[in-house]
Order: sequence, then C-alpha cells, then structure tokens
Amino acid sequence: MNTVLITGANRGIGLEFATQYAADGWQVVACCRQPQQAMALNQLAEQYKDHFSIYQLDVRELAEIDQLSQKLHDLSIDVLINNAGVYPPAQNGEFGHINYDDWMEAFRVNTFAPLRMAEALVKQVARSKLKVIATITSKMASIDDNQRGGSYIYRSSKTAVNMVVKSLAIDLQPRGIISVLLHPGWVQTDMGGRGALITAKQSVTGMKGILDKITHTDTGKFLAYDGQHIPW
Ligand code: NDP
Repeated sequence: MNTVLITGANRGIGLEFATQYAADGWQVVACCRQPQQAMALNQLAEQYKDHFSIYQLDVRELAEIDQLSQKLHDLSIDVLINNAGVYPPAQNGEFGHINYDDWMEAFRVNTFAPLRMAEALVKQVARSKLKVIATITSKMASIDDNQRGGSYIYRSSKTAVNMVVKSLAIDLQPRGIISVLLHPGWVQTDMGGRGALITAKQSVTGMKGILDKITHTDTGKFLAYDGQHIPW
C-alpha cells in the first residue's frame, strides 16, 4: 500500500488530497494543527479506519516536525505533500503597509517548514517505492509572471520556497528522490475565495494526475495543476 503524508490536511486543498488518496486506497497520514476540531478529517478517519491516521502538527514549530518524524520512524512515505500555507491579510503585504511580523510568519509556514519536513522525513521518503516530495507553491511566486506587483509577503515566501525545492531536487537526486513544485490553480478555498476559478476537487485531481505519472525527469520542475510549465 502506498503512503501519502499531507500537511494542512484539515481544510481546502489539503483536505481534498486526503479525501482523494484515501478513496484510492492509499495509507493517508493527515497532519493538522488541531485534530480535535478537524471534523471532516475525523470523518475520513472513521470511514477509512484501516488506512487513515491524523497527527497534530503546527509546521511553524520545527521541534514538532522532528517529533513527528520520530513517531513515524518506521514508515515509508511515498509522497510527502507540503501543502500547509498562509496568505497574510492582503493589506498587510502591500507597499507602505508591510507587516513584518506577518512576513516572518509567512516565511515560517511557506518557506522554512517545507525544507524542515524534507530534512526530518528524508529517510522515510527515501525508503519508499515512489520517493516524491511535492511542495504546493503558487504562480504568484513566478518572477517572470509578475505583471501586477504587490503581495510582497506571499510572493516572496513562495518564490523562496521555489528555490528551496530546486536545491532539494539536486541534493536529493542521489537518493532517488523526486522533488517538485505544484501550482494548484486559483482554487475555491478559504484562501482562494469564492470567486476563484476552479474547485479543490478539480485542482487536486489535476495535481494527483501529475504525481501519479511523475518520473525522475520531472525533478525540480515548477508545474501547474493542468501540467503546464510555469516560468521561474
Ligand atoms: P486554506 O487557507 O484553505 O488552507 C490552508 C491550510 O494550511 C489549512 O489546513 C491550515 O490549517 C494550514 N496551515 C496554515 N498554517 C499552518 C501551520 N502553521 N501549521 C499547519 N498547518 C497550517 O488554503 P488552500 O487550501 O487554498 O491552500 C493550500 C496551499 O495551496 C497553500 O500552500 C497555498 O499557498 C497554496 N495555493 C492556494 C491557492 C488558492 O487559490 N487557493 C493558489 C495558489 C497556491 P488551519 O486550519 O489550522 O489554519
């Protein structure tokens, strides 16, 4: 049985990943900050008793990531999905109004955590069959695509994680690990808002399709949910 570990699995895109992988019969390790309040996740754990588990994890807390790794010491993780992310209140990320505490918070969640997850869980990924680390980034991270300016905090935290993942792809290649960046599209979640273009189901179906077919030639790529390459 293949195993997927997902951060921020209690709502939005993370919850949809958990739902789809569980339905496919994968062993799902769903991480979230407050398991007791994660109603939808608890329902999935009830429905898929034999292959679904929930772990408490605030990805800002590096020690918690290390503790999780110890708890999952003997596991093989085929696909590690760094999904948890934050988008600070829009007005706090604009020129002249930058909230630097929010910026640090965004870096902790969007940038530091994916690397720490990889550092802490590399052995579990390396011993698995598929050996994939997928980090959910954003087209807003693309320097080439930035025609509108603004969103300093979110953009920079995701651009930085893109570089992290590119280095991971190179550093972990000798261990057979594939490291990719996925842009989910503009998705109807709490973050994306109601006016977003696609549902979480459409987004995750697309990203899962990419992950299902991924090969070593894809390591280090920045891909959208529909398979398009996004310029750096
Ligand atoms: P949501 O805001 O709907 O969900 C964010 C998830 O991240 C929640 O589960 C949240 O948990 C979790 N999270 C936030 N901070 C932490 C933390 N410190 N520790 C653990 N979990 C945390 O966002 P989406 O589902 O839309 O976004 C998922 C990913 O996709 C993010 O990385 C986002 O940047 C990216 N993305 C989304 C787009 C969109 O249009 N929606 C577009 C491009 C990228 P909690 O409930 O505890 O807050």
